[in-house]
Amino acid sequence: MSGNKKKLNLNRVSMPKQSPEERRHNFLEVACGYSEEQAIEEAKRCLQCKKPRCMEGCPVGIDIPNFIKAIRDGEMEDAVRIIKAKNSLPGICGRVCPQEVQCESRCVLEKKGAPIAIGRLERFVADWESRQGLVEEHVSDQEAEGVDRPSADVQTLTGKKVAVVGAGPAGLTCAADLAKRGHQVTVFEALHDAGGVLIYGIPEFRLPKGIVRSEVDYVESLGVEFELDSVVGRLVQVDELLKNGFDAVFLGIGAGAPRFLNIPGENLNGVYSANEYLTRVNLMKAYKFPEYDTPIRQGKRVAVVGGGNVAMDAARCSVRLGADEVHVIYRRSEAEMPARLEEIENAKEEGVIFDFLTNPTRFVGDDRGRVERMEVVNMVLGEPDASGRRRPVAEEGSEHMVDVDTVIIAVGTIPNPLVPGNTPGLETTRWGTLVVDDDGRTTREGVWAGGDITTGGATVISAMGAGKKAAEDIDHWLREDGPWNR
Ligand code: FAD
Ligand code: SF4
Repeated sequence: MSGNKKKLNLNRVSMPKQSPEERRHNFLEVACGYSEEQAIEEAKRCLQCKKPRCMEGCPVGIDIPNFIKAIRDGEMEDAVRIIKAKNSLPGICGRVCPQEVQCESRCVLEKKGAPIAIGRLERFVADWESRQGLVEEHVSDQEAEGVDRPSADVQTLTGKKVAVVGAGPAGLTCAADLAKRGHQVTVFEALHDAGGVLIYGIPEFRLPKGIVRSEVDYVESLGVEFELDSVVGRLVQVDELLKNGFDAVFLGIGAGAPRFLNIPGENLNGVYSANEYLTRVNLMKAYKFPEYDTPIRQGKRVAVVGGGNVAMDAARCSVRLGADEVHVIYRRSEAEMPARLEEIENAKEEGVIFDFLTNPTRFVGDDRGRVERMEVVNMVLGEPDASGRRRPVAEEGSEHMVDVDTVIIAVGTIPNPLVPGNTPGLETTRWGTLVVDDDGRTTREGVWAGGDITTGGATVISAMGAGKKAAEDIDHWLREDGPWNR
């Protein structure tokens, strides 16, 4: 910490939000962001520690104290450049990163009161840039010596081509970093829009799609080409990419296949996987029906099964689509919920009801095959399991029925086996994730992978960190280690 005896300000500047009553009826962003004055006030709380622990908690290593100092001094362009030297998607990370367990959890002020609102400040800087227009990046002499050179236009093109499969945070970050290093990058994306979960999973009220689009535009501005509606493993194989001109392939294909409960009645009408429900609402814009031609069941009594961010997003979408009652059914207690605290609070404020220590055992339909009831059982917490959390155990004889007309299953996702199954030499784990080393190299030469396809469902920033690490290794391999150098 700096030696001066500056008086600590332990209170964060709060961020304005839409009122719960208002936001229950719209899909507009809930949190409104800091004004410039608020951002500067919050930035002034930072102690500018000599050994900044916050940076250790950032998976992409943003120079946090310096970007905060730039905000404090009103040098917003500098703040943009400092962040973007390490993070191509700051508007997204500032909104959805779990900062409370990453950078902010390491801030020295965390123990004394509230840590610096690093995520909100990052979001402020990204929004400031999008209001002003793209800030040109420049390369300092020092940066030009090393690998962290943040601009494509000062790089000599290497003539090497890389195919990135999947346009989620892992693929976008890998593509941007490779383009900045002078390689020609094409991103193959199965859907009709780039962004991965950011565009089809996380709802508009938490992450406006305009922000995802402008960050994809930024990646495109670096010279990256996008082939949308291109399912690798079906339309084209990884082997064909490698034979037909690409020198390396990065797989950032996520883990988007839904997991189910495998209990009776799960195939009834009105029982959705969270993946399908959220894709209909977000990507296919069902919330704008009939302006957009995507039907969705406007349930009145909705049960969302699960306790993570995905469950919170599905529950809060149902509230906005006009449900009378939305219940989150979670088999453990509130303390074990994996969702971000902020999102649990937001859901509660919006009227979502939490049924803790409850688990569904079957769904019952009407004579037209539509779900109308759900049998649940009470749970108690037993001994800790492999995850370290206390294992929920069903309480005998506690089964009872509840009325529902829509059920959304949000109990996690698994990798889609399409690419691993069609690419010889790619080793997978027993969970279907791809085996990679610390640099993201798969068991197949010339093929890297990162993000949810290697970890299972994780976070945006960890996927970006993996994309970044792989880009560095791919660059090294293309320049020095590839077969053409042997
Ligand atoms: P993805 O984002 O899944 O992107 C993979 C992309 O690859 C997709 O666009 C997919 O269409 C494409 N693809 C797949 N197969 C193929 C193929 N064969 N050919 C071509 N393209 C293919 N994380 C947080 O940090 N904070 C949050 O608040 C948060 N909320 C979440 C809410 C929801 C609803 C969900 C589902 C996840 C959430 N997560 C959150 C997790 C986070 O979004 C993921 O960890 C992250 O998006 C993983 O990035 P990725 O690039 O590995 O994969
Ligand atoms: Fe120190 Fe916190 Fe500022 Fe980081 S954000 S430099 S840990 S006061």
